[in-house]
Amino acid sequence: MITIKSGREIEIMRRGGKITARTLAMLLRSARAGMTTADLDRLAEESIREQGGFPTFKGYNGFPASICASVNDVVVHGIPDGTVLREGDLLSIDIGTTFEGYVSDSAATVAIGKVSQAAERLLRVTQESLMLGIDKFRRGNRLSDIGHAVQAHAERNGYGVVRALVGHGIGQQMHEDPQVPNYGRGGSGLVLRPGLCLAIEPMITQGGYDVDIQDDGWTVVTTDGKLAAHFEHTVALTEDGPRILTLRDSFEHSDVSRFRPKEEMAA
Ligand code: MG
Ligand code: MG
Repeated sequence: MITIKSGREIEIMRRGGKITARTLAMLLRSARAGMTTADLDRLAEESIREQGGFPTFKGYNGFPASICASVNDVVVHGIPDGTVLREGDLLSIDIGTTFEGYVSDSAATVAIGKVSQAAERLLRVTQESLMLGIDKFRRGNRLSDIGHAVQAHAERNGYGVVRALVGHGIGQQMHEDPQVPNYGRGGSGLVLRPGLCLAIEPMITQGGYDVDIQDDGWTVVTTDGKLAAHFEHTVALTEDGPRILTLRDSFEHSDVSRFRPKEEMAA
């Protein structure tokens, strides 16, 4: 069931989204070579609870931690453990907060120390894909316009778009309808309208888009072992357009239109 949120509900989600954003920003600043992913998980849980939230992931379908920590060819759902981060790794951190009964969900991939130019480019293009998807989350557009924008940008840069996992509606539940694929033809599906809240989350790979799930039942890896990146925001559609509820002030720009490719700006 697709739920339309009231202004009051979106305001609660905005406040919860701030907790998610501040915590994720802190983790992205903190992550460095020599730390373990379990260290980051502890920092995350402390930060969320100190700010009055609950770490949504903890216990979700039995997930044992407050964040997902996915290194290099792990696409998503890596379980924090004693894995030591090394210079040159890519680390994707996914985090969710429940605040006053509403969930916010956000993710970002960060370079540990100095990484290859190819890895840096993957991060940049994945983040741009997210912003271009968000830019299509506008009244009167169709749901598939979002995934189409993500896919077009990723593929014109030579990357793969993971099909097996998708974005989602979000609110009182972390995963609500509709599903939000990161691929597809534009112009079909739900007509977008104010009050919709979506977690938009491109998962982009250096190689093919096929993934496997490891024996722990969670960890999703690229089948070809190539790098993956993941960026996610919880976004509300308001009367004034898309509003990113998990924006990390110090890291990001709220004007998603500046990510539009030049040919589209001219049109
Ligand atoms: Mg997430
Ligand atoms: Mg999500």
